[in-house]
Order: sequence, then structure tokens, then C-alpha cells
Amino acid sequence: MDCLVNSTKLSLTQLASQVKECTLCQLYKTRTNVVFGEGNSEAALMLIGEGPGEVEDQNGRPFVGPAGQKLDEVLASVGIMREEVYITNVVKCRPPGNREPLSEEMERCYPYLEAQIALINPQIILSLGNVSTRVLLDTNAGITMLRGQFKRWRGDIEIFPIFHPSYLLRYQSREKGSPKYLTWIDIQKVKERLDRNRKP
Ligand code: SF4
Repeated sequence: MDCLVNSTKLSLTQLASQVKECTLCQLYKTRTNVVFGEGNSEAALMLIGEGPGEVEDQNGRPFVGPAGQKLDEVLASVGIMREEVYITNVVKCRPPGNREPLSEEMERCYPYLEAQIALINPQIILSLGNVSTRVLLDTNAGITMLRGQFKRWRGDIEIFPIFHPSYLLRYQSREKGSPKYLTWIDIQKVKERLDRNRKP
């Protein structure tokens, strides 16, 4: 792990090159591409999901499949463009069959995420779904309980858990109390906070 200790001194591009060669956990054996993350390196809003899916593994880019399209919709509903944010995952290589990443895999990969957060230094981290929320907040509580609330994390960074976009794809309803409705409420809170932070 020595190589990771100094990673905050690297640029995001240098870190991405390092991660591209990573064999620290077994997921390297079955990946097509490492999905490091992408977006604005000075983003006020950083989004962290669980891990790459099949489409992401094939393309080497995060959230480009159906869940990514849903995520884009959620952001666009409050006027946030994908180019403004930085998007990554807890693990950078696809778990086979889209299973949840194992604890050991997440532990091995976590220093890369730490380094990304340190380099980007966002104001708000949106943790997408159970896995990233549990990892970042070190909790066993579920997303249904945690979503929609700002949690002070480190320094001035706040974490805001929301449902994972793939979860939203399973529910068509937009009625009050539905996952889509709640996410719509949540993303408005995030937008308000970003706007407030921007004011002098
Ligand atoms: S998931 Fe992370 S730790 Fe595992 S091989 Fe990929 S980059 Fe390395």
C-alpha cells in the first residue's frame, strides 16, 4: 500500500494511470477496464456509487449504462450537468455478475477513493445507495433511514446519501413517498445547499 500513501501528491491523471495497473484485489482478474472515475477535478459535488456494471466495465467510464442515464436525469432535474460533477465508485473494477463488492475488495480499493476525495476536495459527496453510504459513514444503517440528510464528514465536506439510480429504475411510480419522489426532494436539497455555499 506504500504507493497509495503518497497518492494525494499525484494529480488525478497520474493516480488514474496508477490505478489502471492495479492488481491489489481479485477483481483485476475479471475486469475488462478499470473504471477510475471522471468529471470536473474541482467539482463542488462528487458522486460515489458502488462499483462498475457491465456497460461501465466495457467502456471504462462510470455510470454510462441505464443507471447512469437515470442519474443524469436526476441531476438535470435541478439544472446540474454531468460535466460539473465528479463521479466514481467505491471499487474501480466490476464485481462479476454485478454482485456487491466484498469487504476485502473495498478495503483494498478504498485508498484510491480517499485520494480522489482529497484531490477534488468537494463540498458535498452524494453517496449513491447502501454500499457507498455504509463505507463512507462506517455504519450498518440502511439507505432508507439515512437518505436525504446531510452528515458532516471531514473538514468542511458533507455527505448526503440518496437512493442508487439502479434502485430507481425498478420503480415506475412517482407518487408521494415513492423512491423517485423522495429522490426528487433530495436532489433539490442538494441544489439548494450548493447554491447557498456559492453565495459570498
Ligand atoms: S477493485 Fe480496486 S483494488 Fe481491486 S483490482 Fe480494481 S483498482 Fe485494484
